[in-house]
Amino acid sequence: MQSFQLIIDGKSVAGDEASFEIRNPATFEPLGLAPTSSLAQVNAAVAAAKAAQPAWAALPDATRKDYLNKVADVLTSNTEYLAKWITQEQGKPLAGPGSMFEMQACVGWTQVPASLDLPVEVVFEDDTRRDELHRKPIGVVGAIAPWNWPLLIAIWQIVPSLRVGNTVVLKPSEYTPLGTLEMVRLIAAVLPPGVLNTIGGDGKVGDFLVRHKDVQKIMFTGSTRTGKRIIEASANNLARLTLELGGNDAAIVLPGAKPAEIAEGLFWGAFINMGQTCACAKRLYVHESIYEEMVQALKAVAEKMTMGDGMQDGVVLGPIQNKMQFDKVSELVEDAKSHGARIVTGGKAVGGNGYFYPITLVADIADGSRLVAEEQFGPVLPIIKYRDVADAIAKANALDAALGASVWSSDASEAMRVAQQLEAGTVWINQHGAIHPMVPFGGIKGSGQGVEFGMEGLKALTVPQVISIKK
Ligand code: NDP
Repeated sequence: MQSFQLIIDGKSVAGDEASFEIRNPATFEPLGLAPTSSLAQVNAAVAAAKAAQPAWAALPDATRKDYLNKVADVLTSNTEYLAKWITQEQGKPLAGPGSMFEMQACVGWTQVPASLDLPVEVVFEDDTRRDELHRKPIGVVGAIAPWNWPLLIAIWQIVPSLRVGNTVVLKPSEYTPLGTLEMVRLIAAVLPPGVLNTIGGDGKVGDFLVRHKDVQKIMFTGSTRTGKRIIEASANNLARLTLELGGNDAAIVLPGAKPAEIAEGLFWGAFINMGQTCACAKRLYVHESIYEEMVQALKAVAEKMTMGDGMQDGVVLGPIQNKMQFDKVSELVEDAKSHGARIVTGGKAVGGNGYFYPITLVADIADGSRLVAEEQFGPVLPIIKYRDVADAIAKANALDAALGASVWSSDASEAMRVAQQLEAGTVWINQHGAIHPMVPFGGIKGSGQGVEFGMEGLKALTVPQVISIKK
């Protein structure tokens, strides 16, 4: 079986500690052996990043942009190769909004930051003085990526960091390290040594990285629980943080919406990557006047979609990525059933090889149920009936999770009125999860700190420096 390697200071190296096997979640077949770094290797990766950073930051902007455009070219020419790794390791199919889509997004999220500049801002000027705000790189970025969009989220962390002159040490999730290590092996080959490094292993290795005295910024996507640990760890090294934590996005369908017209958009808003996406619609509030029509329209869309091994033609829905997530989904659906909720479709694991759990629509469910209140992060959508729009807004805002939300309506001004009252980092109207590399994205309340993407995302990878000039 193939053993995968780390990249430290531009060289491929094996992990010092025992490697671990990665299996395909659709078949349980072994795929390869993932490396585990010793703590000495984490130190070596951080040291390489620290040593490479001043020269990388000193390059002209145009040169760093050229490097990132070469990275985009490597991603483009390896799209199919890396997409196959994503499908086999993570589970999302090659087709539909799956692994080819993830790779195309990797290219876009590389080209766009490569095209952006952070010009000096004159923040004050009069006859006596001129004050300029310059943006400086922070130093070494520790990037901790999750398993749901493993390559894309790594790119979200790596590319803006490099664009503004930081260097990076990346730890992929222990559930999905192989494709990410392959991607880094390919892109690090067109970068100077030490600029992009990888380490491998579990949360212990991640914890050591985020506490490291030479790491000045953490880019993290994952659970709220781990995010809180990272905040505690940053008390030691004062690392700046961008934390993209869990979501439990509400979608509100207003009276007068047309269920048949919005069902497909809502379906993918809830079920892209089998719901294993931080900004998926996880709670659907539907007005009583169109409740059953909406439930049936979603059921009709669900029945058209084929689930299976994502390497096969025609498959648009894959397995759940791992057993932890599979068990969590199963438990929350059983809890809903035991409290009398109606299973419209799905509701029971498929069995056999693979973590297959069908699209599950759960109707007639009470707002306080665990399936509604907890982030289930899977292919399940609880559909809650409401009478008053104000009540739906209050329920949507009642949770600590506040990453995204959406409003679905045929009345643009009413949709805007509701959107303005929702507590979430992004509120989409008549779409859900529609992220874009130019548009800032991040959670509020319990869903995180800071934003990624666009100019705001780039700024978050810099420290401001004021240069104040007497006239
Ligand atoms: P975690 O937060 O544990 O994992 C995310 C990343 O953090 C992984 O790379 C993980 O490494 C790493 N990590 C774990 N512990 C530490 C630590 N102490 N210090 C630094 N890094 C650490 O999430 P899980 O994968 O366990 O998933 C749990 C839940 O989190 C999911 O059910 C879902 O609700 C949510 N989640 C949200 C995501 C999002 O996009 N916002 C993405 C993934 C999960 P390793 O995997 O090697 O332990």
